[in-house]
Amino acid sequence: MSDQVVTRFAPSPTGFLHIGGARTALFNWLYARGRGGKFLLRIEDTDRERSTPQATAAILQGMEWLGLDHDGDVISQFEGADRHAEVANQLLAQGKAYKCFSTQEEISAFREQARAEGKSTLFRSPWRDADPSTYPDAPFAIRIKAPQEGRTVIQDQVQGDVSIRNDQLDDMILLRSDGTPVYMLAVVVDDHDMGVTHVIRGDDHLNNAARQMMIYEAMGWPVPVWAHIPLIHGPDGKKLSKRHGALGAQEYQAMGYPAAGMRNYLTRLGWSHGDDEFFTDEQALEWFDLDGIGKSPARFDLKKLENLCGQHIAVSDDAALRQELEVYLAAAGLTPLTQTQSSDLERAMYCLKDRARTFPELIEKAHFVLTGRPIVPDEKAAKALVNVSDGILEELTPQLQNVSWSRNTLEEALNAFAEAKGVKFGKLAGPMRAALAGRTVTPSVFDMMLVLGKEETLARLSDAAN
Ligand code: GLU
Repeated sequence: MSDQVVTRFAPSPTGFLHIGGARTALFNWLYARGRGGKFLLRIEDTDRERSTPQATAAILQGMEWLGLDHDGDVISQFEGADRHAEVANQLLAQGKAYKCFSTQEEISAFREQARAEGKSTLFRSPWRDADPSTYPDAPFAIRIKAPQEGRTVIQDQVQGDVSIRNDQLDDMILLRSDGTPVYMLAVVVDDHDMGVTHVIRGDDHLNNAARQMMIYEAMGWPVPVWAHIPLIHGPDGKKLSKRHGALGAQEYQAMGYPAAGMRNYLTRLGWSHGDDEFFTDEQALEWFDLDGIGKSPARFDLKKLENLCGQHIAVSDDAALRQELEVYLAAAGLTPLTQTQSSDLERAMYCLKDRARTFPELIEKAHFVLTGRPIVPDEKAAKALVNVSDGILEELTPQLQNVSWSRNTLEEALNAFAEAKGVKFGKLAGPMRAALAGRTVTPSVFDMMLVLGKEETLARLSDAAN
C-alpha cells in the first residue's frame, strides 16, 4: 500500500444530509485534503427499501454546498454485490467461513432454549465444524468462523484501545441464503477495494468495527486506522434531534448561513486546535488531525455558529460574497437579483459585510441599494421621519448640492449642518437613514451616500422632505 491517505464518506441514502453526517464528511475531507490524500464518496444503498435517489441527490447537494468535493465517481455499494459475494466465497474456499444450513426456526429454537437455561443466546451453528459429506441439499448461508477465544482490540484514534471478548462475537453471516451479502461484509470489501486507509465515522459504528475486523483478519487485509467520533448533542446535552431545531445541512443553507462559516463551525464541533475558534479553510486543512478530536459529545450551539458565520462574512471577498448570496437566494426560493441590483450590491458590499451573520441579515442591510425610489419606509423608519425630521431634511438638501462627494467633505458638511441646527449628529442620522433606506438598521449614512451617489441621495432626501 502506498502512504497516501484515503478517506471516505459512506452515507446511507435514506434522508437529507444530517448535520452529523456533514461533520463526518467534513472531517474525512479535511483529513485527506490536508495530507494530499484522496476523499472518496460511497453511497450505502444496499437497503433497497429505504434508499432513494432523492436522498442521494440531497446528500450530494449538501456536500456541494459545503464545498466537500470528492475524488472519482460516486460509488454505489449495491452495485458491488457480486464482488462482496465473491469475497464470502473466497473465505468459504479457504475454510475461514462455512456453510450453515440452520433454518430461522432452528435458530429461534436454539435461542429460546439458551434463554430458558440461562445461557448466552449467541447462536452457535452446529455446521461450523460439520463434515461436508453430511451437508443436506438445502439453502445455506455463509458464516464466518469467528475467533472464540481471546479478545479483539480496536485501536481507535479517538476512543483509545477498545477491547471486546471474542466469545461475545457470533459467527456472523456474510452471505444470506438468498445470495445477498450482508452490510458488514460490503463495508469491509468496499473499504479495502477503495484503498481506504482511515475510517473516520460516528461512534455508533464502534461495535461494528470489531465484527469488521474479523473479516479483515480472515482475508489478511490491512486494517484501516479507526477514528470513531462522538455524536453531536443538542444544547441540553441530549442526542441531537428535531426538537433542537434544524437537522439538515440544506436547511442551514436555506437559512442563509455561509458555507465557510458552517465549515468552520462544524470543524470546531468536536475538534479543537488550542483556543482557536475562528479559522480559515487553509488553517483548518493545515491543523486538522485525529488527536484534536474530543472524546465527549460536542453540543450544537446556534449562537456560536452565527457568530462564526458573521466573522466569515466580514472577511469574505466582495465578489465571492455577492455570488454566494445569489446562490443562497436560489436555494431559498427567493427572487433573484436583477443585473443592476447584483452590481450595486457588489459595490456596496464593503459597507454591508461587517456585523451581518447571515445572508438575510446582509440583504436587510443592503435594502437601500436593492430598492429604488420612491423609498417606502418601514414602520420604525416612518416614525423617525415624522418625529425628528420636520424641516431638517428640507434645509439639508440644498446645502448638499455644492458639496463634492467624498467621505471627508460629506462628514464636514453634515457635522457643520448639525452644529448650526444645534442638534447632535445622531439626531440627523436617524431621519437620513429613514429617507435613504426606508430602514433604521443600515450601513452608515456616509457609506449610503457614497454608494448611492449625489443625484440619487439628493433625490431621496428631497422625496422624504416633501
Ligand atoms: N452508512 C453508514 C451510515 O450512514 C456509515 C458506515 C460507515 O461509515 O462505515 O451511518
